[in-house]
Amino acid sequence: MQDLQQLRATLHQIDGRGYGDYKKIKGRYAAGCFQLIVDHVQGDPFAAPSRLRAVVPSSEVQLPDWAVRTAARRTTSADFLNRSFRQALLGASAHRGSGKSGELHLLEPGQEVLSRSSLLVAPDGQVESRFSAGLPAQGRRILGQQAAHMLCEDIGRAVRQGLLAQSVDLDALRRHTEVVEDAQALRSQLHEENLVAFVADGSLLPRRSGIDDRPMDTTCAVPFQAPERLRVTLTTPNAGALCGMGIPKGVTLIVGGGYHGKSTLLRALERGVYDHIPEDGRERVVTVGDAVKVRAEDGRSVAGTDISNFIGRLPGGEDTIRFETQNASGSTSQAAAIAEALEVGATCLLLDEDTSATNFMIRDARMQALVADEFEPITPFIDRAQQLYRELGVSTILVVGGSGDYFDVADTVIAMRRYEPHDVTSEAKQIADAHPTSRRREGGQWQPMRSRIPRPDSFDPSRGRKSVDIKTRTEDRVTFGTQEIELSAVEQIVELAQTRAMAEALVWARGRAIDGQRSMEEALNVIMASIATGGLDSIVPYPVGELAEFRIAELAALLNRVRTLVTDAGREGQGEASGAGTGERVVGPPKG
Ligand code: ADP
Ligand code: MG
Repeated sequence: MQDLQQLRATLHQIDGRGYGDYKKIKGRYAAGCFQLIVDHVQGDPFAAPSRLRAVVPSSEVQLPDWAVRTAARRTTSADFLNRSFRQALLGASAHRGSGKSGELHLLEPGQEVLSRSSLLVAPDGQVESRFSAGLPAQGRRILGQQAAHMLCEDIGRAVRQGLLAQSVDLDALRRHTEVVEDAQALRSQLHEENLVAFVADGSLLPRRSGIDDRPMDTTCAVPFQAPERLRVTLTTPNAGALCGMGIPKGVTLIVGGGYHGKSTLLRALERGVYDHIPEDGRERVVTVGDAVKVRAEDGRSVAGTDISNFIGRLPGGEDTIRFETQNASGSTSQAAAIAEALEVGATCLLLDEDTSATNFMIRDARMQALVADEFEPITPFIDRAQQLYRELGVSTILVVGGSGDYFDVADTVIAMRRYEPHDVTSEAKQIADAHPTSRRREGGQWQPMRSRIPRPDSFDPSRGRKSVDIKTRTEDRVTFGTQEIELSAVEQIVELAQTRAMAEALVWARGRAIDGQRSMEEALNVIMASIATGGLDSIVPYPVGELAEFRIAELAALLNRVRTLVTDAGREGQGEASGAGTGERVVGPPKG
């Protein structure tokens, strides 16, 4: 292996030459306390920056044992070091010539703690970071001196500042670790406590703005305070017993006047499937890990999803057991979102009236009287919510300010008043008894859903001569080959790196996990299993630093939004689910 002296010599030697000569520096260098690896050299100063790695052995990092003891703690430590190393790299980043010359970049984490390929902490405490650097040039001429500064001095300083235990704030790291561990402990108690979510007292739910996910200023934000009747106490390893509001399994309504904090609570619950950093305000808001937000999204495509429990007898005679469209309506798109969430195992659905199709949510007595059943294909959600829970064990948390008809099917009703929750379940039930709606139940029995088998040749990542051409510039849009995939309605994607990773996962899975035999659920589970055992690196051809972990629900959401996707019918959803490999998926009754 070469050392930094030799790298410096090379850089001085190629100073002033054409940019292509940078290719010479590809390789590994001993750089004092770490190893610097140049994996890929960019073609010109305006191209995607060069890919580098810093590998620091545990003997140099010297993370305390508590920070690396378990896989979960290593993920949290990695998240922490990602943040501190990013700060240090930003400090070392400078404009040094044309284009991206001199820029240093490391993936930027949001408010959530995720496993990311940009920073890895190995079981023995070794730390590896993958970042990018714009190799300096003036026009296309190499600026060797500047490059030597950047690669041989600045990066080393950033490593020493941002990655070594002796210089990072270990108290902050400990807090990071404890907060995440507590959140995971809270989440793991939900099931046995018969809950789907928990919001600790003192949590700060509102955000700084619609485009800024950091917490609202504490002088303005009203801290969360659980209502007496929903108060539960859960235990945590680090913060001890915590009081807060437990949302029971079943059907829960969040009601209240406009602008009283309903959607803010629901959004915090959506994010509660993830762990949060200390001081986020939602670090003690947890939701069952497979809770899925579903909403209307007219215009999306649907590829064979069984929406027949919600939509039947369409005017054009379309099949709703295998529903296909390039232009779903509000109601059919919301039905598809629910069916697709159930298909991959969601046990809790989150819905907000703000983003729901009204005719999907409710059909009141007067409308029932006016529009005869034979002309209305929709079985509204109100007639399915209880069935979903009683028959499939799937809970619902629903924001409704507009329809008291839902009182009939609610197990719990929470009213938000000036950002404070109140348990109004018994009041709502009394009102429901005193003012019967005379609406008829619709829809009959819940029918087991038909499974689907995605065809691997129906989503093609190639474009022109490139066999794989995927671009993700924002978290809610992917260019996959020649196709644009819109993800803005997939609200639980929290980082661009998740979107990237999911797009990569689909490329990897084509012909492998998605083989034309496996059902949607089986195929996507093969991908998730590969990542669970081999990490995010297992789904990409070479190590990159731009991926973050994601859930099966969001991966399914991405594949389901590929407009060319074609699925074949799995077996009819009748009777018991049979073994793996048959392509069959039947949503069964609740377990245990
Ligand atoms: P709703 O869905 O009931 O109409 P929102 O949840 O959209 O209301 O909240 C309305 C406004 O109140 C938002 O600007 C939000 O940031 C703010 N808000 C929500 N919860 C709180 C809180 N606990 N403290 C202070 N402001 C809040
Ligand atoms: Mg709202």
